[in-house]
Amino acid sequence: MSEWKLPWSASCLCERVTMRITAPPVIAMACHCRGCQKLTSGPYSLTLMVPEAGFEVVSGETTIGGLHRDDGHQHYCAHCLSWLYTTGPALEGLVNVRATMLDDASWVRPFVDTMAAEKLPGVVSGAARSYQAWPAESDHDELMAAYAREGAKPQ
Ligand SMILES: [Zn+2]
Ligand SMILES: [Zn+2]
Repeated sequence: MSEWKLPWSASCLCERVTMRITAPPVIAMACHCRGCQKLTSGPYSLTLMVPEAGFEVVSGETTIGGLHRDDGHQHYCAHCLSWLYTTGPALEGLVNVRATMLDDASWVRPFVDTMAAEKLPGVVSGAARSYQAWPAESDHDELMAAYAREGAKPQ
């Protein structure tokens, strides 16, 4: 556990919302789907999936954005509207934290590319593995074990 150098602090662009992560991520992903391209205004979203019990908003006010669907909520800073994290039943006890909000994001490297079929030309995330769509449920355990072993960690 200590190799992850927890806890981590994170904040939005205006720093009104601050967050704390106290549990290691189970996977780091770059999602290249069209939805993530629009949500981020960038070529992909960079995500650390963290157990719910290891994530908290410490200060500031958040608001829901994105598609306002029942199975996933995109949480934003109510003031600067940075996309901060995603929750919802589809995530089965995990929170998708936007890795770029970490106070120190310098070590973050995606382990898996998802939805690479929709990847923009010329985009390279540095992920070790790439999936054209979503990793099959049957791959999840092996992927998380490989990430725990080999995934990039704070320096
Ligand atoms: Zn903000
Ligand atoms: Zn996506």
